[in-house]
Amino acid sequence: MNPRVMTVYGTRPEAIKVAPVVRALEASPKVESITLVTGQHREMLDQVNQFFSITPDHDLNVFETGQTLNALVSKVFSRLDQHFADSAPDAVLVQGDTSTALAAAQAAFHQQIPVVHLEAGLRSGNLHSPFPEEANRRLISQISSLHLAATPTARSNLLREGIADVDIAVTGNTVIDALLEAVQKPAEIEDPRIAQAVAEERPILLVTTHRRENWGSAMEGVGRALRVLAEQNPEWLVVLPTHRNPVVRQAILPQIGELPNVIAGEPLPYDQFTHLLAASRIVLTDSGGIQEEAPSLGKPVLVMRDNTERPEAVVAGTVQLIGTDEHVIIREVSRLINDRLWYDSFANTTNPYGDGHAAPRACAAIEQLLGVGTRIKDFGSGYPDVSTWTVEQAAQADALDRARARVGAA
Ligand code: UDP
Repeated sequence: MNPRVMTVYGTRPEAIKVAPVVRALEASPKVESITLVTGQHREMLDQVNQFFSITPDHDLNVFETGQTLNALVSKVFSRLDQHFADSAPDAVLVQGDTSTALAAAQAAFHQQIPVVHLEAGLRSGNLHSPFPEEANRRLISQISSLHLAATPTARSNLLREGIADVDIAVTGNTVIDALLEAVQKPAEIEDPRIAQAVAEERPILLVTTHRRENWGSAMEGVGRALRVLAEQNPEWLVVLPTHRNPVVRQAILPQIGELPNVIAGEPLPYDQFTHLLAASRIVLTDSGGIQEEAPSLGKPVLVMRDNTERPEAVVAGTVQLIGTDEHVIIREVSRLINDRLWYDSFANTTNPYGDGHAAPRACAAIEQLLGVGTRIKDFGSGYPDVSTWTVEQAAQADALDRARARVGAA
């Protein structure tokens, strides 16, 4: 009988990033793939599974509005044992840094089932930011048997923490595999106002925010900044697919109020979101995944955080860290809107995060771990390792690149 790999995931971004690997595992004649969702997110997760035609084998359905992280983790913990006993997986695959990923990794470790960590080695260097993700990812690294790092930088982070090189494969990020597939498929944007703006090539500012460390006053400031930007730029459409978390909605929506050129609606299904991303002029976000996706589409990204575990695109010049001060947000978005040369200095469609072939690399490394295959060549030898750079150094390199681009373009 083939060895069994159980993939455990629970949120929208995990679903997007595991989908290409789950499908590669399903297609492999060497392993048996089992999927289990925790349901940490509900509708947003189900939409992604549908898009990728994945029907989970098991569903813990732990979602409850407003539950604490501890309540969530304890449910996942207590329910996984039975599933591990029933399915007897030979490896458990988790993705990223959510509470689902940490709980599943730890539950598997307790049962002495090897843990495979997809998107291993991201580090912001600050245990409390992003919260709780930085802690989750560090903890998962300590108990994983195979580390699927997206980039050479992530690999170096792991090596510095004492992880053995032989246990690391550099795959590229599977989010790019998913994105390239999604933007190639036709998608109909349901909201007629967004669809019209896309059809007319109206300039669109696409905004997403959900990070826990931005909850409260920072997010209120984001709302006020969006109001000012929309009022100052009536020809632009501001689209804010608003995260389902009520804490996010209560902080941001009252600050924006009703404006004719702001659409603050529901999160968009993944296929519609990726098409909107491709049609947007500027992206303002605190999302990790969107920082990785946008460079493939040549979109400038302003990141509303003070640090990032994804320095590669800052160095490549397509991402700028701007923090959450509302005045800085207004200043930096306005600069991109009004200064064409500045805008062009961001446009760069090489993506340091992936080439769209991460899933086969991940699948091959898992097969090797289970003794039924061999790895294929790592991703990204051409990209610099920026793991030892501070955020300030990255920002300096970014400024230099921009200055060169501006001189070149002028
Ligand atoms: N996304 C989506 N619909 C939306 C907003 C985002 O499908 O309305 C996708 C996006 O393409 C990206 C992922 O969700 O792949 C990012 O999720 P999120 O920002 O919630 O999490 P993070 O990446 O910060 O962990």
